[in-house]
Amino acid sequence: MRGTAEKTPLSLESPLSGFQKRQALYREFNSAERRRATNRNHYDPVEGNDGGCGTGLVAPRSPERACFVSRAGERTRVPGARAPCPLPLCSPGACGTELDMEPQRSPLLEVRGNVELKRPLVKAPSRLPLPGTRFKRGPDQMEDALEPEKKRTRGLDTVTKIATSHPRAPALTARPQTQGQTTALKVPKKTGPRCSTAIATVLKNQKPGPAVPAQKPAAAAPPMMGGKKPTKRPAWDLKGQLCDLNAQLKCFRERTQTLNQENLQLQDQLEEAQQQARALGAECRTLEGELARVQAQAEQGQQELGNLRAHVLELEEQLGTQEGLVQELQKEQLGLQEERRGLAARLEEQERRLQASEAALSGSQAEVACLRQEAAAQAAALVEQGERLHGLEMERRRLHNQLQELKGNIRVFCRVRPVLPGEPTPSPGFLLFPSGPGGPSDPPTRLSVSRSDDRRGTLSGAPAPTTRHDFSFDRVFPPGSGQDQVFEEIAMLVQSALDGYPVCIFAYGQTGSGKTFTMEGGPGGDPQVEGLIPRALRHLFSVAQELGGQGWTYSFVASYVEIYNETVRDLLATGTRKGQGGECEIRRAGPGSEELTVTNARYVPVSCEKEVEALLHVARQNRAVARTSQNERSSRSHSVFQLQISGEHAGRGLQCGAPLSLVDLAGSERLDPGLALGPGERERLRETQAINSSLSTLGLVIMALSNKESHVPYRNSKLTYLLQNSLGGSAKMLMFVNISPLEENVSESLNSLRFASKVNQCVIGTAQANRK
Ligand code: ADP
Ligand code: MG
Repeated sequence: MRGTAEKTPLSLESPLSGFQKRQALYREFNSAERRRATNRNHYDPVEGNDGGCGTGLVAPRSPERACFVSRAGERTRVPGARAPCPLPLCSPGACGTELDMEPQRSPLLEVRGNVELKRPLVKAPSRLPLPGTRFKRGPDQMEDALEPEKKRTRGLDTVTKIATSHPRAPALTARPQTQGQTTALKVPKKTGPRCSTAIATVLKNQKPGPAVPAQKPAAAAPPMMGGKKPTKRPAWDLKGQLCDLNAQLKCFRERTQTLNQENLQLQDQLEEAQQQARALGAECRTLEGELARVQAQAEQGQQELGNLRAHVLELEEQLGTQEGLVQELQKEQLGLQEERRGLAARLEEQERRLQASEAALSGSQAEVACLRQEAAAQAAALVEQGERLHGLEMERRRLHNQLQELKGNIRVFCRVRPVLPGEPTPSPGFLLFPSGPGGPSDPPTRLSVSRSDDRRGTLSGAPAPTTRHDFSFDRVFPPGSGQDQVFEEIAMLVQSALDGYPVCIFAYGQTGSGKTFTMEGGPGGDPQVEGLIPRALRHLFSVAQELGGQGWTYSFVASYVEIYNETVRDLLATGTRKGQGGECEIRRAGPGSEELTVTNARYVPVSCEKEVEALLHVARQNRAVARTSQNERSSRSHSVFQLQISGEHAGRGLQCGAPLSLVDLAGSERLDPGLALGPGERERLRETQAINSSLSTLGLVIMALSNKESHVPYRNSKLTYLLQNSLGGSAKMLMFVNISPLEENVSESLNSLRFASKVNQCVIGTAQANRK
């Protein structure tokens, strides 16, 4: 790249050749001008190197400043005339020459100026150069030729024989050498400024002083006759004197004639010179125009040159940038080449692997074909197994239902809560849990409550006898039973809801016996004390997911209401309705529909236990708000959690749906008849009556269903009316009777146990799944 940069000037030569030619021409012209200027300066009296006045080398430079010289040698100053010659031996009267202090004007113009002034000139033999000879060498030479003549003419005292030169002969060589001053004008025949320089040198060395006295008029002397010195005539020889004078006069006349002739010649020469001067002036103007044009071209050329230099600099800068770029690209190229080599090696490796893979692939393809055949066979087997599985599932459901029926469509579990801290420990034997027929390993199904008859003991004075009350249920949970154990017993029942059987689970018992604990769970959110509702829903979600593998899809919609004093209130209400206890009504979903809905209640789709937890949290909050306004209202109301389950097997066009109802009943305790009836107690009485009424109705409904009566009094209470789809027909019912372990509650415990026993004796007909 450096080589290119070095070649750049060469490449620029071609476009600049025209300009360079003009430059060369301009330089030549300038050098010539400088030489001429140098020569002029050399003669310039301002520089002090002029040989003296009278040389004629410096003529007036302009007509305005020229001295007007009269024929008689008198000099008249004109406006703008120059100062007299400062040289000591040169007086104005003597030489008649004014020194021009302005060296800049062209001599040619001075000649023309003189002509224009029409200054009378003494006719003398012309020493002017002829056209094509001296004038072409420069205006200075013409000055050289003119000035001595002027001086002679101005002097008039000097009789100079001026030879009329041939028009084309050099003026200086044609002049006679009769006078000293003219002798000085003998200069070599040289052209151009050198000639002027030579003349100037000669004139400078010559002292002009003696020339003036030599030109003193000799008129006073008698004319020389025959080359002899004339003798002075005596004063009396007047005739002789007259003869001399006549001879002298004749001589002067001849001379006058000669001078007149010479004058005519000089006038002719002057005209020629004027013509030449005009021609030269025209030529000068042409040259000046040419000079101006060349100067303009030179300036333009300079400007172009400057532009080109700037452009060259810019190009050089760009070149530097490009070189840097090229270096970077070269580096990058090297890197890429290296990378390319690496990639080529990798490509070879990949190709080798590809070949190996292709070989393996062909083997694998054969294997895949085998596997596909196997897969097809397995798919067929899978379909067959699916069919079998579906048959088995249906069989499972049928057997499961049979099992539930064998267990009873109405089952009763008894659960005794533990003695809480701070509560009196019951006497031993107050509650007994006798083992079943299979021994202690069998789950307990029996409960014995010992009650002492205080009245009989007091009357006889003997210790009060105890009466043992034995109860038998489907399952009895002693105080130490955990929530998981309880749920384990009902899990299969809950799963029946997925099979399309309505399921209803009650918690019955007096207040504080553990109903809410059983249904919702204990306080603190401890998973160990989680109640049946969250456990049942989690179990349903899990089983529904498993059944999804067999083509079943399930959806769940939850609602939670409480029935207090025969009014229904939404426990899931949020926002402005939260805690307001806005009344809801139980309505059929549509005309002719068996399905019941609660107006103004929220029905929330749920799909995971988190959502169920959130709903239970909202229900607890709503109960807490109600508790502040009405004393322990929760224990005086029935809480009904319902989950509407809908299942569908799209592949087989099967649908099933059933409600799961989990009911936390109001406290079953009766009002103490011995209590005084104040305003609060009257309100409590109404509550209790409503509760007892609804619970009695529940018992009556169960009895009616058991006895297969034609009329089932569902409408006698809001509770049974709401739960009618979960009680009759194919419904499966489970009742938890919750018992307090305290002896003080024995009366209510016995009442509960009796009510539960009645229910337990009921057998509702064969359950039918709600299948479509
Ligand atoms: P109810 O709802 O029948 O009025 P609760 O469920 O509120 O009764 O129970 C009353 C108290 O007894 C609560 O503090 C509860 O935590 C406690 N409790 C009930 N059952 C159990 C149990 N099985 N284990 C431990 N604590 C229980
Ligand atoms: Mg409760």
